[in-house]
Amino acid sequence: AVKLFSEREKLASLGQIAASIVHEVKNPLTRVKGFLQLLKQDQPHNFLDTMDSELEKALTILHSLLFVSKPDLTDEPFVSIELSKEIESTLSLFQEKLENVKLVIQIRDSNKKVVGKRNSLLKAIFNLIKNAIEAISEEGTIKVEHYYQNGWVHVKVSDSGVGVSQEQLKMLGTPFFTTKDHGTGLGLTQVYTTIYDQGGDISVQSEVGKGTTFHVKLPALKE
Ligand code: ADP
Ligand code: MG
Repeated sequence: AVKLFSEREKLASLGQIAASIVHEVKNPLTRVKGFLQLLKQDQPHNFLDTMDSELEKALTILHSLLFVSKPDLTDEPFVSIELSKEIESTLSLFQEKLENVKLVIQIRDSNKKVVGKRNSLLKAIFNLIKNAIEAISEEGTIKVEHYYQNGWVHVKVSDSGVGVSQEQLKMLGTPFFTTKDHGTGLGLTQVYTTIYDQGGDISVQSEVGKGTTFHVKLPALKE
């Protein structure tokens, strides 16, 4: 198992750099977009529309980068959450995509709670399951586990998909690292920043051609 806890600082400073680049680039782009609106009013043109939608794409990417680099900007309150319930509802969002997948759900200690930002945690679970589905080409197995141990709530997402090499394993969580044609490489960055931001830990094990397991743990709420 590769321990990613030590990556926390690296990710944090990368996040700070990213945030300042975002600010520097976003302002001029936004001004250009404003002038483009004026131009479009005067002389409508297809290429002005294209420029507008391309600018919009760039701004959207910048926005999601800002979100992942500064998760506390989301202003979400910390609440107590029964993760086991959230796992079930997140899985139901993927019903269609899971048709050819053998799904194994193992929920133990379902009443244990964690304290965290609900939407961010849901999105993190969503991103892990989405990646697991995308890692499986034809058919395969996805296993999702939930259990309590020694003060931590554990969530494991395993798949029998393509896996990643040891080299790639080190890159996981780095903003924009993707091996997919239409990937953003921001999903795992969201996962890692969210889990670390909420006092948790995450590790990953993977073997090419065999599959991947993400192991998340979050401090359980003391009762
Ligand atoms: P994206 O899914 O848009 O590529 P992510 O940040 O979610 O971005 O994932 C980054 C990369 O990590 C993926 O492109 C893939 O190479 C690798 N990866 C993530 N999860 C898995 C998985 N379950 N199995 C294999 N590779 C994975
Ligand atoms: Mg992804």
